[in-house]
Amino acid sequence: MQALSQMLTGGRPVVAVALLASLLAGCALPLASESELETESGKQFAKMRAELVVSNDVQVRAYINCVSAAVIRELERPYSDKDWDVEVFESDDINAFAMPGGRIGVYTGIMKVADNQDQLATVIGHEVAHVTQQHALNRVNREMTTQAGVIAGSAVLGGGQATGQLLSMGAQLGLSLPYGRGQESEADVVGLKYMAAAGFNPQQSIQLWKNMTQKSKLGPAPFLSTHPSGDTRIQDLIRQLPSALKLYNDAQAAGKKPVCQP
Ligand SMILES: [Zn+2]
Repeated sequence: MQALSQMLTGGRPVVAVALLASLLAGCALPLASESELETESGKQFAKMRAELVVSNDVQVRAYINCVSAAVIRELERPYSDKDWDVEVFESDDINAFAMPGGRIGVYTGIMKVADNQDQLATVIGHEVAHVTQQHALNRVNREMTTQAGVIAGSAVLGGGQATGQLLSMGAQLGLSLPYGRGQESEADVVGLKYMAAAGFNPQQSIQLWKNMTQKSKLGPAPFLSTHPSGDTRIQDLIRQLPSALKLYNDAQAAGKKPVCQP
């Protein structure tokens, strides 16, 4: 989410937090909702499409859509029912994200670390899990609660209009804050289930994170600044492998054998 967060806030989410906190001082606390995040993410996604280079490589687009569609079918409702919008950005950055409302963005640079469909499905599964576990929403509401609790002051908000503005800001913030460590671990676990249930080989998740670690030594990888790789992450994934392999074998037996060609 790093590239996205920098786009949204100029790389200074802390300023947004402080601003929110001052607005919140002394007020009854409005919490952001999933639908506010969805509306805001729609705007941000459109902005990215306008400002970044959208890939017109038909094969790459078909490949990424093929993997995404297979993973999406395995989500819980209502997420599996949504009409997910998948966009491919032409960029050397190793990056990918998913946003509330059913949006996935993949940078072509991700193919430098995701060598095959199973590794790409690991990335997509992880990102989509952040959405289904409502991580952005939890993050922003925790932030708003914390900030409102520690700052005393007079009420600056009156009518519903101001509250609406505040919620819109909160939604922007929710999309820009990096996820916490606990959320990253949860997205790994849940994401691995999704990809394995779709018939992608979960053993490849280990190789993906090894590739990530390797690439990060060569230069900046935005994905890695918010997704610290390394031995802990890989050990955690290895612990998940037996249950993920069972899902994978069941999926294969049920005829779910995705063939997405890069
Ligand atoms: Zn993540």
